[in-house]
Amino acid sequence: MVDYIGIESIQKIVRQRGAAAFIEGLAGEIEHDYRRWNDFDKSARHAIHSPDGVIELMPTSDGHQYSFKYVNGHPKNTELGLLTVTAFGVLADVDTGYPLLLSELTITTALRTAATSALAAKWMARPDSRVMALIGNGAQSEFQAIAFHHMLGIREMRLFDIDAAASGKLARNLHAMGLQGLRVTVCRSAAEAVQGADIVTTITADKRNAVILTPEMVKPGMHLNAVGGDCPGKTELHADILLRKDARVVVEFEPQSRIEGEIQQMPEDFKVAEFADVLKGTAVGRASPEEVTIFDSVGFALEDYSALRYLHKLQLADPALRRQIDLVPRLDNPKDLFGLLAPAAARTVKVPRPDTIPEMALDEHSR
Ligand code: NAD
Repeated sequence: MVDYIGIESIQKIVRQRGAAAFIEGLAGEIEHDYRRWNDFDKSARHAIHSPDGVIELMPTSDGHQYSFKYVNGHPKNTELGLLTVTAFGVLADVDTGYPLLLSELTITTALRTAATSALAAKWMARPDSRVMALIGNGAQSEFQAIAFHHMLGIREMRLFDIDAAASGKLARNLHAMGLQGLRVTVCRSAAEAVQGADIVTTITADKRNAVILTPEMVKPGMHLNAVGGDCPGKTELHADILLRKDARVVVEFEPQSRIEGEIQQMPEDFKVAEFADVLKGTAVGRASPEEVTIFDSVGFALEDYSALRYLHKLQLADPALRRQIDLVPRLDNPKDLFGLLAPAAARTVKVPRPDTIPEMALDEHSR
């Protein structure tokens, strides 16, 4: 049997703790795993592109446990009443190769992305940051708002989306949550939203080189959390923002970000630091209050590994959350896999010892 976390279980797990506490706990797990970066087997994710989207596989392992995530990105899906991003994943035992957990990762991806964004901002944004612009108010946006309110102390959220209904939905959800001391303003343009912002999160979905932020919108001291550009030909920042002399760019896993991140617009020798180095102290997240810091996020397999490990730990600690599925056969004799397919009656037939088996006439085909 394999442990299983579906939508019902993830709802219970997150509601029990509260989304903010869950995200903070997950951020701790992600930080822990980034700090042991060298333990992980890392590769850029495997992507298969189609005209309207991408389907990706994201594997990693620390030598003890292995994980992969299946994730899609189809920005036009919302027109069909479907999510842009859906995902599921597996945590497995490296020694036996057996899967331990099969889990939904659609909601979990939103949680882990918010956790990673807020974690990076803790190391890169000015500590006195209180105002955040949130551009792109779709499925991921509430999670980002909760994470930055709870972990960074953001007290004003300035929203913009080309779809006014999406901003209305986000504003309503944030009001309903009653996040302490949070002022929410819906803006008429991205330029208006970023005015006075200390942190700008771009989390839009569009399969093209969009220009959500132009150079004149970016002011000294800002931290940019660029999340929505995560595929070849799918970016959010004007290239000149990355080229600013006062800009510092941090990525998750450089080989993957060169393909998918904002830095796909840059030459190969464009200087970036990996987030793991910032945590280890071998790179700097922010050198001065005036710098423009950019977390060029695409989402890396380690974050999903951390999320799966965290979810499994929480599930194992609470018997009421335990669900299992029969994904892998259990056998008395592991060499008799075919026995599982034999009719039930045949399985109860006693097998004679080899010395008592009469020699059988073999037919022509099996000779
Ligand atoms: P979604 O489709 O639910 O929401 C996207 C929103 O962006 C929509 O409301 C849309 O109207 C808005 N938008 C599109 N173009 C815009 C523009 N020019 N200006 C303002 N708003 C605009 O998608 P989602 O699930 O919220 O995901 C958002 C993006 O984040 C996707 O591109 C997805 O691939 C990406 N993502 C990245 C990570 C990561 O780890 N980096 C993780 C999850 C999702």
